[in-house]
Amino acid sequence: MDFKKHIHDVHDFPKKGVVFKDITPLLSDPKAFAAAIDRMSEPFVGSGVQIVAGIESRGFLLATPIAYRLGAGVAPIRKKGKLPRTVKSASYALEYGMDSIEAHADAFPKNAKVLLVDDVLATGGTAAAAISLIEVIGGHLVGSSFLIELGFLDGRKKLPGRKIHSLVTY
Ligand code: AMP
Repeated sequence: MDFKKHIHDVHDFPKKGVVFKDITPLLSDPKAFAAAIDRMSEPFVGSGVQIVAGIESRGFLLATPIAYRLGAGVAPIRKKGKLPRTVKSASYALEYGMDSIEAHADAFPKNAKVLLVDDVLATGGTAAAAISLIEVIGGHLVGSSFLIELGFLDGRKKLPGRKIHSLVTY
């Protein structure tokens, strides 16, 4: 499956100088979508994943079918202020300033085996914050699965010693 054929580059979105990787053509193609979910899940089949944590918002679209495929539950990692009950937060640096992500403090039981899923690994700041959040809650990170890795941004450097799987690298 040539996944790149189904990922469209959108220049200068959401701001000048950024090449946005639009995965909606891939999501809407039944064969490409199924292949992507299978291939993102594959390395983690049999590793006892209990929870797939997806990062808002495109991460949700991938985390949920991957969780179903692995026989796991799903937990949302959301932007600040979206979750209704007691949360844990983790902050990360943006180009200008900081942002934070949150998960319910009881999103999964202590020592649960957790797989992190998102659409794009770029600078790695979001994934590093999500991993710290998973560990603060008491989860055991089995690994991370991304559809796209922007290799030139070296996001892996922010996730040393972690198992990282990505389908497509630019
Ligand atoms: P980062 O923290 O830099 O690794 O950015 C990762 C997050 O930002 C992911 O949740 C992505 O959805 C989003 N993101 C970063 N760069 C892009 C891009 N070029 N195209 C689409 N989404 C992106």
